[in-house]
Amino acid sequence: MFCGRSEAEVPVLLRGNNGACICSDCVKMAGEYLQANAPRGYKSHSSKTSKKILKPKEIHAALDEYVIGQDRAKRLLSVAVYNHYKRVNANLDSDKKDDSLELEKSNVLMVGPTGTGKTLMARTIAKLLDVPFAIVDATVLTEAGYVGEDVESILTRLLQEADFDLERAERGIVFIDELDKIARKSDNPSITRDVSGEGVQQAMLKLLEGTVVNVPPKGGRKHPEQEFIHVNTQNILFICGGAFEGIERKIAQRMNTQVIGYGAGNVKAVDKENLLQYVNAQDLRSYGLIPEIIGRLPVVTYLDQLDSEALKRILTEPKNALMRQYHKMFELDGKKLVVDPEVLDFIVQTSVEKKLGARGLRGICEQIMTDAMYEAPSTEQDTFHVTLEYAKARIN
Ligand code: ADP
Repeated sequence: MFCGRSEAEVPVLLRGNNGACICSDCVKMAGEYLQANAPRGYKSHSSKTSKKILKPKEIHAALDEYVIGQDRAKRLLSVAVYNHYKRVNANLDSDKKDDSLELEKSNVLMVGPTGTGKTLMARTIAKLLDVPFAIVDATVLTEAGYVGEDVESILTRLLQEADFDLERAERGIVFIDELDKIARKSDNPSITRDVSGEGVQQAMLKLLEGTVVNVPPKGGRKHPEQEFIHVNTQNILFICGGAFEGIERKIAQRMNTQVIGYGAGNVKAVDKENLLQYVNAQDLRSYGLIPEIIGRLPVVTYLDQLDSEALKRILTEPKNALMRQYHKMFELDGKKLVVDPEVLDFIVQTSVEKKLGARGLRGICEQIMTDAMYEAPSTEQDTFHVTLEYAKARIN
């Protein structure tokens, strides 16, 4: 017997073929020990065995609860995420692993104007899947040796989000914003060194493709004396976003040449107002992304500019919509908040006039609602009514 006790003293006894015995108490203790001190590579059941993966339609439905419109992007993203975690699980699951066929990773690039929901979508997916999520701004990154942050700091951020649980971090999602800002500035590659552009793209390549990267746990610059954490990026999903302002011109140029060229007669009618929907690798290359980066971002999708209709829906429909939040705040005071429908139109109109888009809605709402939240708790009435007049008086 492993612990030396007799059969009568233990809850359950397990017998091996050769007569060796171990009791359930010892098995439990051994399990706890392994969970706490597992060497790297030990497959603990709680985190490494395949989890149930949400299907694309389920991911899409969950996105619908928080993100208005952007149907095309939602479809592409849900398939990309589904495939990504299917691939991760297949690689972890030795039964399903097929060494002759490598399932390649598909990172995602979302092209679309600022404030249309790119970050929101990536964040919602990470929350849905309960994986660590880090947002980094590509503009702060520079090539090693220059002022700014090394690309490895992206992974420091992810590790921090995962509370330095390496296994969790290695299945996380990273959102790299403003990828367009590290585009090569001219079409002529490297006459002078392009510190913030091409060099950073080169440095980012290895993260995107999936290798083991030495990450300084505290971020910042790499110091030789600092201990590194070795992070494998193989199963980390990178979602990149960028406004790519002016890329429509590149798309138009490409499409014009295509139309003039062979087979022009068969070309489908082009929606000239919304050229972004035709964005492809060639346009990204003309914009200044290096081919290797484009190759590592095989899923490219676009986001629509949000019109007034969509902005109005954003105010009320998502699960955590601004208006729902205000209603809840009043409810906590035991008050009912009534907001006239014209007030919502006014908020949207103000945001459109000031060219603030979805991002501006919160600020405008706050300007109107701060007074209401100041006054309401001290009033006798159970209902607080926000009229158009009330709203207009608070916006300048
Ligand atoms: P970006 O496209 O620049 O990453 P964000 O996702 O950060 O934009 O959007 C900014 C804010 O605007 C979000 O936090 C959210 O409140 C709101 N928003 C933007 N687009 C949408 C959308 N399609 N549906 C719901 N809310 C949105």
